[in-house]
Amino acid sequence: MQRLAKRLQDVQAQHKAAVAEAQRTCPHTSVLEAQSKNGILFYWPPLRVCQACGFTEEGFHFRVLTTTALEVSRDQAVEIGRRAVWAP
Ligand SMILES: [Zn+2]
Repeated sequence: MQRLAKRLQDVQAQHKAAVAEAQRTCPHTSVLEAQSKNGILFYWPPLRVCQACGFTEEGFHFRVLTTTALEVSRDQAVEIGRRAVWAP
């Protein structure tokens, strides 16, 4: 069982590395943006996500996803952004 757990851990690490490499090399030309959102207790700043690789940036200044973005709902942007693992 430990061998299987180790194998799963290795595959997950390889997957994460492959996604990170894809996000690092992606031209990020198809970008979605969710506007900021006010909640009762929280405030969420604008969120941008690349449709091709899932790379995500949140805040008021975007360093990587600088192309014109298509506005979508926050739920749509968050769902696509879950795949993001690369951090520049
Ligand atoms: Zn991308």
